[in-house]
Amino acid sequence: MKLLKQKILECGRALNDDVLLVDAFLNNQVDPELMAEVGREFARRFADAGIQRVVTVESSGIAPALMTAMELKVPMLIMKKSKSRILSEDILQTEVFSFTKNAPYTLTLKKKYAGEGERVLLIDDFLANGAAAFGAIKLLEEAGATVAGIGAVIGKTFQPGRQKLVEAGYRLEILAPVCHMEENIIEFE
Ligand code: 5GP
Repeated sequence: MKLLKQKILECGRALNDDVLLVDAFLNNQVDPELMAEVGREFARRFADAGIQRVVTVESSGIAPALMTAMELKVPMLIMKKSKSRILSEDILQTEVFSFTKNAPYTLTLKKKYAGEGERVLLIDDFLANGAAAFGAIKLLEEAGATVAGIGAVIGKTFQPGRQKLVEAGYRLEILAPVCHMEENIIEFE
C-alpha cells in the first residue's frame, strides 16, 4: 500500500534493526485519513473471505480494525491485554509474550462477542514474531470462530511471524512489508 509506505518513510523511525516507531500516525497519534485508507485496503483484500466480524488486540490495533469493520459493515471486537475486575465471567485467556514490553501479558477474550461459528478477520498494527497473532488465534478457535484472515498494517518480514502463520495455513495480508531495517533505514519488500 503505497500511501502507507510513504507515511512510514516520512514519519516512521527505525530505532535499530528490530523496532520501528510509528507513533506519529499509528501508535500514539493516529492519522484518521490514513486509517480509513487502511480499512478500505483490508476490506478490498478480504472481500471474498466472507468475514462476519473483525477482531483486534488493544490498543494500537483498534484504529485499523475499526476502519476495516466499518468498510466490511461488520462488528469489531477488542481483545484485552490485562486481567480486569469487571471482566471475570465468560472469558478465555492465554499468556502472550509481548514484543514491545519484553514480558508476558494475559490476553483476554470475552467469549460472548468472539463470533462462535463465524468467520473472523484478525487485524493488528504490527506482525513481528507472531506471538500476539497466535495467542489471539488460539482463543478465537477455542471460542468456536474460524480465523478466515489475518491483516497486519506493518509486517517485519525478516522476523518469523509471517512464515509461521503462512505455514500454519492462515491467509495473511501485510499492507507494508518491511524486509530490512537499520538505525534510520527502512526498506520494503
Ligand atoms: P509479535 O507478537 O508478532 O511478536 O509482535 C506484535 C505486537 O508487538 C504488535 O501488536 C505490536 O504492538 C508490537 N510490535 C512488534 N513489533 C513492533 C515494532 O517494531 N514497533 C512497534 N511500535 N510495535 C511493535
